[in-house]
Amino acid sequence: MKRSAFASLLLAGVTAAAFVVPATSAAADDVSGDALAGKTVFLDPGHQESAAGHDMSKQVDDGYGGTKNCQTSGMTALGGTPEYAITYNVAEIVKGALQQLGADVVMSRGATGWGGCITDRADKANESGADVAVSIHADSTSAGTDTTNHGFHMIIPKLDGITDAKAEKAQADGGRAASKIMRDVYRDSGFTPSNYLGRDGLDERGDVAGPALTEVPLVFVEMGNGSNPGDAKVLESADGQAKHAKAIAVGIATYLAGGGAAGAAAEDAVADESGADEPGGGSPEAGGGATGGTADGAGGGVVGGDGGMLDGVLDRVDDVMDLFEQLISVNGIDSLLALINDGNIAKVEGILGTATDLAGPLLAEAGTA
Ligand SMILES: [Zn+2]
Repeated sequence: MKRSAFASLLLAGVTAAAFVVPATSAAADDVSGDALAGKTVFLDPGHQESAAGHDMSKQVDDGYGGTKNCQTSGMTALGGTPEYAITYNVAEIVKGALQQLGADVVMSRGATGWGGCITDRADKANESGADVAVSIHADSTSAGTDTTNHGFHMIIPKLDGITDAKAEKAQADGGRAASKIMRDVYRDSGFTPSNYLGRDGLDERGDVAGPALTEVPLVFVEMGNGSNPGDAKVLESADGQAKHAKAIAVGIATYLAGGGAAGAAAEDAVADESGADEPGGGSPEAGGGATGGTADGAGGGVVGGDGGMLDGVLDRVDDVMDLFEQLISVNGIDSLLALINDGNIAKVEGILGTATDLAGPLLAEAGTA
């Protein structure tokens, strides 16, 4: 993974308290900061800090004609970090990265307090009219340590039985495609698919309401198993959260950029689903069903594909995330999240602007500017 020259410059500048922006070197990157302009992304960090004043067992529509609990409190990883905090940090970094590409990002909840029933969050996603929604979670398999079960998976909804036709269509088409792209990006990012749920990082379920209630394509990411020491270490560390955020941002950008390899992957993903119903369908996976076969995603994955626009978008995600990772290493994750939420990381034209926007507040914070 290449290091952004600007991230290095920024780091050097911050640590030396003598940050100077060279006038020309950023232009080489020349990746548009509005590649995702006009796109809306809905991010739903799972669970919430507190359910005070709310009844989590209130029965709400489960999307399949039944009911289920309005919400759950989520897991706590081995090191003591609650799921709601992990998912919030990751979602915020994803938000910051996507905003740098010009996307509008709508969050389901804030850092603290209550975040709404699953039905409320689905309503919010639907109202946002997002091009894609991503629910961010982490799993748990034991109250104690589980050294066996590990890895990420994407939950994809069983389509049969979804009562909202619009939701069923959204998840059948874009939802499946986006989930498979995200799975491929996760794998290409060095994460291991779950060895205990689903198949090849995809787990089809008929008891998860969110996707079944959401009328825009939704990806449901279970980033890892908080009961597993290896997974927990990544989930609970700032560096690890940034790594998850980068994979999610790349997955979203790949889906939204839609061209080149991403478009092919999306088409393949949809073909996988219809192939079983079409005699003579050329897909090697025809009949493989929603969870796909081992050949699914072969060919090196979608990252690094040949689409010009996609390459540009992914380069920019790379640069932005390099910068974010440097900022985390300098001042910690809370400082980065504060910058993102204070609007100090405004939409800018290119990495040069980004570096400038980021450096000022950081230096001021450090008392060196
Ligand atoms: Zn969860």
